[in-house]
Amino acid sequence: MNEQLSLLIALQEIDTEILLKTSILDKFPARLNESTDEIRGVQRKEAEVKARLDRLIRQKKDKDSELEERLERIAKLKDRTKDIKTNVEYQAHLKEIASAEAARLKAEDEVLAIMESIESSTRELKAVELLVREEDNKWNEVKKKIEEEGSAIEAEVSALKHKRKEVYSRLPEDMYRRYMELLTNKKGLAVVLASDEVCSGCHTNIPPQLYSDLNDTEEILSCPHCHRLLYRK
Ligand SMILES: [Zn+2]
Repeated sequence: MNEQLSLLIALQEIDTEILLKTSILDKFPARLNESTDEIRGVQRKEAEVKARLDRLIRQKKDKDSELEERLERIAKLKDRTKDIKTNVEYQAHLKEIASAEAARLKAEDEVLAIMESIESSTRELKAVELLVREEDNKWNEVKKKIEEEGSAIEAEVSALKHKRKEVYSRLPEDMYRRYMELLTNKKGLAVVLASDEVCSGCHTNIPPQLYSDLNDTEEILSCPHCHRLLYRK
């Protein structure tokens, strides 16, 4: 076989491998992104529970001050008891105290209800935080694996590029340029096998004369349809 053709076949093999590996590497950002779905989900949940807890703590603070005001009001009312002169006034005063006490009890109940919600939300937050940590660890492992895999493929690609340089440096410049043009314009396939009178690049029939010439000539021949360089086994 023509020595140039052997070099071209070797170059195509290397380039096919480089293209394959590069396409795998191209998918890595999407793979990384996909694996963040889980962690994003639990992080969102964590933020939700935190916001709810903050809201409850603010509510409790408000209710606490309300309760304090109500207690002060009751104390003041009770203080005034000694100044009351008439029975009518006294009855009205007792009524006022009773209604203030009822309001105080209501505020106390509300504080208790808020405290219960704070307790359950705190428990929920702890559970979600645990999940976030677990998902974070899992994500870090996945990321590490993907990154290691990526570095290994990058190293392989760089070794292949070194190898391709050795091969193409032995080709005449115009032949290499022709190869590169085909590689770019023909979807990464510049040199293809012809078998059973069919070009494996475009899958069309090759004229029988050309097919037989492929065996006999030292010339580099190309497919009349797709113009890729042909060889026979
Ligand atoms: Zn073809």
